[in-house]
Amino acid sequence: MFDYDVIIAGAGIGGKTLAYKLAREGIDILLIDMKPQEKIGLKVCGDGISASYFEKLNIPKPHGRELASIINASEVLSPDKQSTLIIEGLGYTIDRLEFEQRLLKDALAKGVHLLDNTHVLGPIIEENAVKGAMVKDNKTSEIKKIRAKITIDATGQTAAIRNRLPNNFLIEKSIDRFDIAAAYREIIALRDEPMWETDKIYIYLSHKYAPGGYTWIFPKGKMIANIGIGVQPLENGPSPVHLLEIFYKDWKIQKSEVIHAGGGFVPVRRCLSQIVGNGLILIGDAASQANPLHGGGMGHAMIAACIAAEVIAQGIESRENILTIHDLWPYAVRYMRTDGAKNAALEIIRLLLQGMTDEEINFIMREKIVSGDELYQLESRPKESSGIWRKILKSVMKGKIGLLRRLKIAKDLYFEMYHHFHAYPDNPKDLTKWHMKTMSIVKEAREKLWRNPVEHTFLRR
Ligand SMILES: Cc1cc2nc3c(=O)[nH]c(=O)nc-3n(C[C@H](O)[C@H](O)[C@H](O)COP(=O)(O)OP(=O)(O)OC[C@H]3O[C@@H](n4cnc5c(N)ncnc54)[C@H](O)[C@@H]3O)c2cc1C
Repeated sequence: MFDYDVIIAGAGIGGKTLAYKLAREGIDILLIDMKPQEKIGLKVCGDGISASYFEKLNIPKPHGRELASIINASEVLSPDKQSTLIIEGLGYTIDRLEFEQRLLKDALAKGVHLLDNTHVLGPIIEENAVKGAMVKDNKTSEIKKIRAKITIDATGQTAAIRNRLPNNFLIEKSIDRFDIAAAYREIIALRDEPMWETDKIYIYLSHKYAPGGYTWIFPKGKMIANIGIGVQPLENGPSPVHLLEIFYKDWKIQKSEVIHAGGGFVPVRRCLSQIVGNGLILIGDAASQANPLHGGGMGHAMIAACIAAEVIAQGIESRENILTIHDLWPYAVRYMRTDGAKNAALEIIRLLLQGMTDEEINFIMREKIVSGDELYQLESRPKESSGIWRKILKSVMKGKIGLLRRLKIAKDLYFEMYHHFHAYPDNPKDLTKWHMKTMSIVKEAREKLWRNPVEHTFLRR
């Protein structure tokens, strides 16, 4: 009845991690990707990842040709370039193709099957369940159905399965443009010695250069850097390609060669409310699991993949038929109450930052209202951050009434969102009520915190 136990649509970082973690004798896994095998992993990216994911998830860390630079800290620069925040922590810049080819090799070595050069067109839906995928061979144009007990949508931002689900799955099919970062980046060889340290990554916050986002410089060795701009794609907003040229000129960065250039999109909001269905799991960008504050999504896709692998492994071997929404629900609960809760709280900070003017960000950084360590704690340990919020609110008392009001609202909504995700329902029947509450928190945050960054800073420059 089934061709495979598991079909993983999309052999990106999430799909391959899941395949690698799930592969064992007795489980038949098919990975499908539209790219030819040797190009799997070629993805436009900032190429930066924290070392903590590899340690936590027990995945071999980047080494050899996969590793471009070892990074010891992130430096966040204020719009006026007068203040910095240093966040210490080990990380890497990587050669993404080399790194992902290694993940692929490791998965294939464990017996995973690969169907490359094949487009996933959508799910096979029967009896209110996903029972596999419709695929098209890129070379022959042949279309066929491949059946499995469980199908994973790991096709990233394109979400090839999710987009074509029937409405009764109650899974959001598309993500609002408002919640997407549009980014463009170049990997360049530098003409002159860099003005930055090569063991740090740099985040430059300024709506003037990147309305609603930021500009980054991620060194890859001494004379090569990944430099890019991510923006909130608003009406009348500037194109990141154009902004990057202005940035190079203003910062006097001279390139001797553009090694690779390209753009892409990342969802930067909380995880979708529903990430499983009968016979279906969503992971990575297809589930909107990237960090809403900076768009880093590799590590989050890996976390989700590891949780999914454990939940699938528990159910699949003993089952003759598909795994139902009830079998797979523990994946949603475990993800939402951990990584999902942290990311959801960060959506509130994203809206707050997009609503702050460059002058307000300068003020916060100049007055040292928040330190690098504190920022890291707000990002990674919301539960322990009430003291930091108290300090922030106390320091802003001095006279910035409007800013203080927004900070107070942000603090309340940040904790409300975090605790709400911690209370993700144990049973799918309670999801609608939970989802309505999520939407009311988001609505309040958008109305009270967000202001159009194109209008409030960019057009005034
Ligand atoms: C410009 C930019 C910079 C970024 N910088 C960083 C960074 O520095 N650090 C970080 O951690 N994250 C970064 N991200 C985000 C990160 O790339 C993603 O969050 C991460 O790749 C998500 O992994 P995934 O496995 O869900 O999807 P992907 O890595 O996108 O993989 C999806 C896979 O599915 C395949 N696919 C898609 N559609 C189909 C289809 N219809 N049929 C068959 N196959 C299909 C693709 O070929 C691909 O192999 C950046 C993103 C962008 C756009």
